[in-house]
Amino acid sequence: MNPASATGPHLPARWTASVWPTRRVVLWSLLVALVVALLAILIWLAGRYEASQVQFRLERDAGEATSDIRLALTRNIQNLQALPSQTAPWVPEANNLLRTHREIVRIEWRDAQLQLVAEADSPYYKPLFSRIARSAGQSELQVACTQAKRLSAPAYSPSHFLPQADGLGLELMEMCMPLSTAGQHSGYTVATYALQSMLSELINKQLARGQEVLFTEPDGTRLAIHGSVRRGGRMFSTQQLLDLPGNTLVLRVDSWRAAPDLFPNVLTALVTLMSIALVSVLFLLGKDVSRRLRAERDLAEALAFRKAMEDSLVTGMRARDLQGRITYVNPAFCQMTGFGATELVGISSPMPYWPPELVDEYQQRQSVRLAGHLPTREGFESVFLRKDGSRFPVLIIEAPLINALGVQTGWMSAILDLTDQRRMEELSRASQERLQASARLATVGEMASLLSHELNQPLAAISSYATGSLNMLQQHSALSPQDMAHAMQRIGEQAERAGKVIKSVHDFVRRRDQAHEAVHPSALLDAVMPLVSLQARKLGVRVQVHCAQAVKPVLCDRTMVEQVLLNLARNGMQAMETVPVHERVLELRVDATSRLSAQANAQADPQRSHVWMEFSVSDNGVGIDSATAPRLFTPFFTTRAEGMGLGLSLCRTVVEQHGGFLAFENRSPRGTVFQFTLPSA
Ligand code: ADP
Repeated sequence: MNPASATGPHLPARWTASVWPTRRVVLWSLLVALVVALLAILIWLAGRYEASQVQFRLERDAGEATSDIRLALTRNIQNLQALPSQTAPWVPEANNLLRTHREIVRIEWRDAQLQLVAEADSPYYKPLFSRIARSAGQSELQVACTQAKRLSAPAYSPSHFLPQADGLGLELMEMCMPLSTAGQHSGYTVATYALQSMLSELINKQLARGQEVLFTEPDGTRLAIHGSVRRGGRMFSTQQLLDLPGNTLVLRVDSWRAAPDLFPNVLTALVTLMSIALVSVLFLLGKDVSRRLRAERDLAEALAFRKAMEDSLVTGMRARDLQGRITYVNPAFCQMTGFGATELVGISSPMPYWPPELVDEYQQRQSVRLAGHLPTREGFESVFLRKDGSRFPVLIIEAPLINALGVQTGWMSAILDLTDQRRMEELSRASQERLQASARLATVGEMASLLSHELNQPLAAISSYATGSLNMLQQHSALSPQDMAHAMQRIGEQAERAGKVIKSVHDFVRRRDQAHEAVHPSALLDAVMPLVSLQARKLGVRVQVHCAQAVKPVLCDRTMVEQVLLNLARNGMQAMETVPVHERVLELRVDATSRLSAQANAQADPQRSHVWMEFSVSDNGVGIDSATAPRLFTPFFTTRAEGMGLGLSLCRTVVEQHGGFLAFENRSPRGTVFQFTLPSA
């Protein structure tokens, strides 16, 4: 890869050009074709050379065979000349000669007029002229002897066919040799040759092995044949002239080579072996090239993949060498700073994207880094300068750049633009502040509502004590100083209560930890009784209070629990407004055990050894229908015109803040019972 490239490595032009695979294919095909042609020519040449060698050997053999025959014929002439000139010893001598020379079928002694003087037949043949009289062959004999007499030397007749008794026949040739006695022509010695036997007897036996030796006439007519071969394959043939006085024979040798003769000699074998080796090398080379091609393709793919990855990256990447010179920047980095890759690559500090006022600090940091001090994995924040002069915060994470040999060649940094993050942080801080402001407003609203709800009762009580006292004052007679003091004390108590309610509601709304204290339930009942009876008197309700013997003190915020009891009692009394007066009974009970407290005990943490006290407020009122029941504890839900709908929601929250449980159920035949639990101290 060229590190100076800003947009990642470029593929070499020849990789991207679509023409190169076709060119390579053409070159490879050409190479393969050339090698194949070369090998074919080599094999053909080797074959041709071998054929010419065979032909040469054949011609040499044929030449040797011709001279062998000629030599044998000359020797035979000498032997015939050595025959005695008297009839008596001539016959045994001639027979003797015939025994040793199978090619001669018959020897005759004829006088000057060609009349037969003596004759001898070869023991190896049936007597020649047993079937056809000798005179039939006389013409050839005459031709030969006439020529012999003229030349005064042996002469040969043209060959002729003599049929035999067994249906076969013999191709014969006469040799006529003139005889002279004391310088006077006295007769002839005639030897009859069988051409077949000449071939089998006079030429080298090796020649006939594996090939055919023939005598033919100049026009190609076969006269005699010797040797047998397996025909087939390629035929090699040669001819030699056997020039005899009076007759010319053609000696032909035919030879067949087995086909296909692929390894006829070392040369062809060598060439073939070399060809195979060459083709194998070519094949291996091709395989190697295709492997390299695949590797190149994989590499190109990996590079393309890397480039795509780099281009899609929003993180800026910057590589520096050990001298601090920039060797690589990715497109994201260029986009971030506004500088082009060509402007950045190759330069060293001070970098153009360093704010001028921070150059000293950055230079120091870089020298620390170049001294080999590893930066932290978390990175560090910094400020960069855009080309347009604006500054932006960045997070830089640096890591050593290690090359393939494991040697550090520089530093690689990932740079994150923090501008957006900062903007988001600013936005979230602002909205947090707005949220807090609205939460404060909501708290104020909640407090105002609760205070107005909870302060109703003490204020109403104060007002009714004050009204009562005023009435008594106007009537003069009935008012005693004790009564006056009692009324004032009650007014004071309720005013104090109002103060406490304000503080408790304040703490409750702020979710502060309320001061829990151990209070006996009867004390709680006693505290709410004055207010409850005040309202009960107004509404004509009888109030019954019952506190069980086993009841133990409970741990609670006293004022708030009193408010719960007051709210429940007031709700109960208001529910009875429509029932006949004598049926209006409100019952306040505290029990140490009950169904609800057993349930609360079971649900509670077994580690905590609380015993739950159960408070219940029962009325004979209108009851709660199934449509109202699910919405009962929803803040601001009310069915009354003057109601605020905060009482039950506050009750439940207070009870649950104490770890207790608030529930209600309808009574039979009429009315409702509200129950809640508090932990014992
Ligand atoms: P408020 O008393 O201001 O209406 P609450 O939250 O105390 O608000 O009560 C909500 C509603 O629940 C009442 O309006 C009433 O309809 C119903 N409710 C409360 N207590 C009883 C009860 N003991 N019997 C019948 N209905 C009740």
